[in-house]
Amino acid sequence: CGIVGYVGPQTPSARPVDVVVEGLRRLEYRGYDSAGVALVSPDLDHVTAAKKSGKLVNLVDELEAHPLAASTAAIGHTRWATHGAPNDVNAHPHLSEDGRLALIHNGIVENFALLKEELLAAGVTFLSETDTEVAAHLLARAHDATGDLTEAMRQVAQRLDGTFTLLAVHADSPGTVVGARHDSPLVVGLGDGENFLGSDVAAFIAHTKEALELGQDQIATITPHEVTVMDFDGNPVEPKRFTVDWDA
Ligand code: GLU
Repeated sequence: CGIVGYVGPQTPSARPVDVVVEGLRRLEYRGYDSAGVALVSPDLDHVTAAKKSGKLVNLVDELEAHPLAASTAAIGHTRWATHGAPNDVNAHPHLSEDGRLALIHNGIVENFALLKEELLAAGVTFLSETDTEVAAHLLARAHDATGDLTEAMRQVAQRLDGTFTLLAVHADSPGTVVGARHDSPLVVGLGDGENFLGSDVAAFIAHTKEALELGQDQIATITPHEVTVMDFDGNPVEPKRFTVDWDA
């Protein structure tokens, strides 16, 4: 299972959706049963997404048949199902009820049943059988309360038990991807006017060899020109920079 995030310019030669799908292809060796992408753009007030069970080619065919609008940030996921069958609905991304936020997750949310009960009581409608979907709804509610995707991610990360790498995008911040990690890997790739997130460097090695190693319980917010990292308590972190020493 793999995770890719990208923010950068939409150019004809390197569309964000293509960068992310290519990153997923390079993470295929990890094994997976479904794949999906979500995109945001300043021209749209909602997230656009596509997801398909089976091999990456199913997602690629879907994207060819129904191309998504141009975007400035994209997230991509390959799923190894732990909760809920490997079908299209359970594939990631999972969207908020208003369709303005998308989230992907590798790992397991151990306390999802309790959180789901809380959200159901608050009137939230669930579409999937995954443990992950609680995180999407919690994040959307925290975002609506704070107006800040990074702060929302910090609050949600503190509520989840288990293992997770999470990435999210929101229509309100179309040039930002936010990621969090707890007992699950996440690295930042540093580009020139573009930045990357990946479950390992293979996700972005075709584009940059400059990377930041995130520590346990950290949150990274990437925009085309900036990367900021903090811990789950909100303290700023100076991550360790390294150069990947293998060829693409
Ligand atoms: N537990 C989540 C699910 O079953 C994520 C699995 C993964 O790591 O891909 O959907």
